[in-house]
Amino acid sequence: MLEKTEILDVEKLLGDFELMTKDAENVQRETLKMILEENGCAEYLQNMGLNDRTDPESFKACVPLVTHKDLEPYIQRVADGAFSPILTRKPITTISLSSGTTQGKPKFVPFNDELMETTLQIYRTSFAFRNREFPIENGKALQFIYSSKQSKTKGGLFAGTATTNVFRNSQFKKAMTVMQSECCSPDEVIFGPDFHQSLYCHLLCGLIFHEEIQLVSSTFAHSIVLAFRTFEQVWEELCDDIREGVLTSRITFPSVRSAMAKLLKPNPELADLIEKKCSRLSNWYGLIPELFPNVKYIYGIMTGSMEPYLKKLRHYAADVPLISADYGSSEGWIGANINPSLPPESTTYAVLPNIGYFEFIPLKENVEEHMQENGNVSFLSTEPKPVGLTEVKVGEEYEVIITSFAGLYRYRLGDVVKVMGFHNSTPELKFVCRRNLMLTINIDKNTEKDLQLAVEEAAKLIAEEKLEVIDFSSNVDVSSDPGHYVIFWEISGEVSDEVLKECCNCLDRSFVDAGYVSSRKVNAIGPLELRVVWKGTFHKILDHYLGLGAVVSQFKTPRCVEPTNNKVLQILCDNVAKNYFSTAF
Ligand code: AMP
Repeated sequence: MLEKTEILDVEKLLGDFELMTKDAENVQRETLKMILEENGCAEYLQNMGLNDRTDPESFKACVPLVTHKDLEPYIQRVADGAFSPILTRKPITTISLSSGTTQGKPKFVPFNDELMETTLQIYRTSFAFRNREFPIENGKALQFIYSSKQSKTKGGLFAGTATTNVFRNSQFKKAMTVMQSECCSPDEVIFGPDFHQSLYCHLLCGLIFHEEIQLVSSTFAHSIVLAFRTFEQVWEELCDDIREGVLTSRITFPSVRSAMAKLLKPNPELADLIEKKCSRLSNWYGLIPELFPNVKYIYGIMTGSMEPYLKKLRHYAADVPLISADYGSSEGWIGANINPSLPPESTTYAVLPNIGYFEFIPLKENVEEHMQENGNVSFLSTEPKPVGLTEVKVGEEYEVIITSFAGLYRYRLGDVVKVMGFHNSTPELKFVCRRNLMLTINIDKNTEKDLQLAVEEAAKLIAEEKLEVIDFSSNVDVSSDPGHYVIFWEISGEVSDEVLKECCNCLDRSFVDAGYVSSRKVNAIGPLELRVVWKGTFHKILDHYLGLGAVVSQFKTPRCVEPTNNKVLQILCDNVAKNYFSTAF
């Protein structure tokens, strides 16, 4: 049994990390060997003709690059309870549902003990680096973490989101204790069946333990912002509960009520204190340190599609440091944030060479234009030629390929990363965007990042009126000719038509991709349309995904809605309050 006082041997962890990253190439070779020796007998690898070879060269020659779609039939058989080893030697007992917010529906991916171990290794590694610069004392963490509904597949395997599988694992709690980051909320709140009720109770627990809170965290930063936006609405009710020592009747689940009853005692002094603090704040600036005077930092994934929430998070955090959490996915972890003092905008992730075998498809060199002589057909040939972990070049962008301990071999993750440097011989990656998220009509190509930059630019116009874009999304409308970009905005208050027209023009001008600009100039792409949606629209989208089995902890607003994602598109279109067309070109 771990004693509560046991803490992590940070120096040893840092030393091991140095050794491993100095020898990244060999560690990668060894890792691949371990994965293939362990799973070589599984049907998938047997069919590849590896014949027990475990070296990277044979592996690359025999095993093809795949996407989730290619592996779906195998994963489905695992989920259906097939008896024989299909992807891994040891039976897979748990399935993770990836958040699916980028694709419209959750995907099944295998989860096993080895994946849990790599999760903990990543947590420990970044903690070691973080704790050197931002030491925390024994205290508690206000973690906005939630569990998805856990179901069983046809074959009797547990299926839940990856974060749920991690939180439910007995190793998780021990690891948090050792990292002095024990969650202040009881399990009944984390695993409560209704996210709204759990969120309320997390806030209440945070307030009850307000002096002990050392850090505020969540998996993705979106959940922290959502939590404090909710606080703005329910703080008086929270104070009433604390004053009387009685939980609001809006919490209906008996298990959650009884767990909270053990913590909640009448405390009028605390209720007065919180009321005083809240009424002192100007527009909730600095709310987090005001409520939690001993908070050392705020922690959660803050890069990629989370960047748009940073402004609001900084507003709540005032001068409390924001530290981005690590880089990974339901399919497997990739890198740790080992430079925690960098602001989230500059965060990079050092790849851990022993948690999987990694390859990278260079995005520049692989697109070779081929002209075909038959008629006047021209096409783009994209034959990916991946390079190894230690072969990547600084300044170049790549798509990440994972081979994991959980049955994924040469799996295209679909994320684009940029190599910013090396830590010893392992690369430090910046997350750029999802590869398939793209606004495109003809020769234009705008990624999620381009959209984010355009929105940031245009949002400056409403910031002058002390308003903000709460959330945003987009799609391409090709129902009329020429097609055009549609940007959906939810705004925190009323903005005049003149300002919104200017925002719309600014959005249109901010897509600087040459294909877009030239198409706009000749009207091959029509004027950009800004659609302002009613307040609460993006909450409806979140609720829609929760209904599909997603979980708030892993939620990412879909930034570009595919035409096939009917339901989300319908929610957006049904809630349009006003729309504007650009006159910028
Ligand atoms: P999920 O499908 O819920 O497992 O989400 C995994 C995806 O979230 C990754 O493939 C990335 O696109 C994104 N993601 C995970 N970690 C980060 C990070 N640190 N920064 C940016 N995006 C991330």
